[in-house]
Amino acid sequence: MNNSEYIERAEQVLLHTYNRFPVVLEKGRGVWLEDVEGKKYLDFGAGIAVCALGYGDEEYQKALESQISKILHISNLYYSIPLTEAAEKLVKASGMSRVFFTNSGAEAIEGAIKAARKYAYARDGRTGHEIIAMEHSFHGRSIGALSVTGNDHYQEPFRPLMGGVRFARFNDLESVKEQVTENTCAIILETVQGEGGIFPADPGFLKGIKKICEERDILLILDEIQCGMGRTGSWFAWQQYGVEPDIMTCAKALGCGVPVGAFVLNEKTAGASLAPGDHGTTYGGNPLACAAVLAVFDLFEQRGILSHVRETAPYLEQKLDELVKKYDFLKERRGMGLMQGLQVEERPVGEILQNALKNGLIVLSAGENVLRFVPPLIITKDHIDEMIRRLESSF
Ligand SMILES: *Cc1c(COP(=O)(O)O)cnc(C)c1O
Repeated sequence: MNNSEYIERAEQVLLHTYNRFPVVLEKGRGVWLEDVEGKKYLDFGAGIAVCALGYGDEEYQKALESQISKILHISNLYYSIPLTEAAEKLVKASGMSRVFFTNSGAEAIEGAIKAARKYAYARDGRTGHEIIAMEHSFHGRSIGALSVTGNDHYQEPFRPLMGGVRFARFNDLESVKEQVTENTCAIILETVQGEGGIFPADPGFLKGIKKICEERDILLILDEIQCGMGRTGSWFAWQQYGVEPDIMTCAKALGCGVPVGAFVLNEKTAGASLAPGDHGTTYGGNPLACAAVLAVFDLFEQRGILSHVRETAPYLEQKLDELVKKYDFLKERRGMGLMQGLQVEERPVGEILQNALKNGLIVLSAGENVLRFVPPLIITKDHIDEMIRRLESSF
């Protein structure tokens, strides 16, 4: 069967919640994907910032196979070795204190919201606490995560959402201060906004928020689901700002393809928020998911992925900057590490993406007319050159 025959079948049975690109991807090697007709694509999307190790990595696959042959699932009523070892890795990489594994990013956000509310409840014995979130943020599609997602279009049909959420403008500290009340229990933001259009937090903004949080015992929740796990050249983007969150959420590249997320608490929050009976999950942190997390941390360390990102990213930035100089419709480049965006004007990004696909290149969009580049972290300069060639012929 070719692409269109498979697509016709898919459209008979799948709920139409996505306008998918017209390709059926079947396999991958390194940073290349292949569709059912044998056409190859250079991948600068990584399954939305997930496949940091690329595709078909033998050691990663071996680690999964070895876990599959032992046990897949045990529930959270018991301990497992991969669960403990994966949590140890996450604690060490973040310098934080305690981990709760989830199955997705949205669930990590749900857990972070519950931990923040419980922390405030345990302190005052009151309910009705509020959370400050950012405009143009993205935290996921479940009702709680959607409630802190600053996007009217995503929220509108599903109201009423979770109450007690106030929105401030990203990188505008005064607008955050205006939303603080005696009921504020947390401020949540992405260290680098992803879906909203690739906007890194200004250092002064993040430091200012941390100061407000410390002064008023408000918890800082940093969403590192997209920008974490080495994408910006450090394990987590906040480590480059010197601003530590009280709660961090993580997912996407955490499992490099096996669905897994986590929320991680610092000592202060862990000691005074969620307690036995307050939160749970059947699958979260199961042995297969944790074997993937463990393999990801091991392979990142063995291969020096963080320093590879730090070496490669300036080249990507340079090449994208050259495009901005060369083409009037490219307004600016923004980003950190291997999380980059090009602001496009007067041309629909969708058209560029479709042309790119025809030219065997996968790139993503974000926000209002932004081209988003979140490649596997194993890309080389040659891949970047090839991407630029294919992108230019797509303009
Ligand atoms: C993708 C994403 C989420 C949601 O993760 P899911 O696994 O899709 O639920 C939350 N926050 C950020 C910053 C994301 O990029």
